[in-house]
Amino acid sequence: MLRDEGPLVPLAGCTDLYVTLNFGTLGATRFLDLWRLGPLRRIALRDGMLSIGALATFTDIMQSPLVRRRLPMLVAAAREIGGPQIQNRGTLGGNVANASPAGDTLPVLAAADATVVLASADGERRVAFTSFYTGYRTSVMRPDELITALDISPVSGRQWFRKVGTRAAQAISKVVMAAVDPRGDAPPRVALGSVAPTVVRLPLTEAALGAGAPIARAQAILLEEITPIDDVRSTAAYRRRVAANLLARFWDGHVSRT
Ligand SMILES: Cc1cc2nc3c(=O)[nH]c(=O)nc-3n(C[C@H](O)[C@H](O)[C@H](O)COP(=O)(O)OP(=O)(O)OC[C@H]3O[C@@H](n4cnc5c(N)ncnc54)[C@H](O)[C@@H]3O)c2cc1C
Repeated sequence: MLRDEGPLVPLAGCTDLYVTLNFGTLGATRFLDLWRLGPLRRIALRDGMLSIGALATFTDIMQSPLVRRRLPMLVAAAREIGGPQIQNRGTLGGNVANASPAGDTLPVLAAADATVVLASADGERRVAFTSFYTGYRTSVMRPDELITALDISPVSGRQWFRKVGTRAAQAISKVVMAAVDPRGDAPPRVALGSVAPTVVRLPLTEAALGAGAPIARAQAILLEEITPIDDVRSTAAYRRRVAANLLARFWDGHVSRT
């Protein structure tokens, strides 16, 4: 249908689409309802990888023993998204496709080196999550494609997630960080949301921490790697300060346990 009867806008939980409808910015009038596609809601192990169907809701993610065991930082993110109503309707695929730089699961998927599984009438293709976004709210996904799943290889070491918003629930992030510390096996992986047009990984900061740089040096490098802006939710200056503080909080766990 996407190929032959388009343009059609896929709709999943509708928690983002309804906002645009209410704001009067939803131009589309023809939709493709994905909600009842049960196989796209599955959370399973496939070839040793955790495969989370695009239609898995945040509640599904919180309740999944597999995700709790393999990717606790995603459970932490899901728990802080919206409130129970949003968690029951909002989906992981919707969060990714919506492509907001403030999407709370995006830093988790970036730090976990996830793969986006895309399907169209032509077949399936797999895109590294860190190559998925091309700019502010744009991605490599074509209009005739759907996200069917997010695949995540085993993540070794300590996982860390922290969202900073105005309050604990029903708040969009001012800054959100997810990070993985493989503890000596490899450099850490650090991803930030709401500090650039897309979610970002911080390769220079990661390399500095991995090489044993003092945290103050790594924080200075982080500040070179991000480009936050002033907007309705926060200021660039606040975001810079918080992002640097979050890096130190994450790295505290490394120092205190090694
Ligand atoms: C009150 C409220 C609070 C919120 N709080 C948060 C929060 O704390 N953190 C946060 O990150 N977000 C938050 N959101 C935003 C929203 O809930 C999430 O982004 C959610 O994950 C969107 O999923 P959905 O299934 O509802 O997407 P939809 O609204 O159905 O779709 C969103 C976009 O993704 C596309 N899409 C959906 N599924 C697919 C697919 N499988 N393949 C291709 N395209 C697809 C749609 O076409 C649309 O463009 C909030 C929203 C509201 C209304």
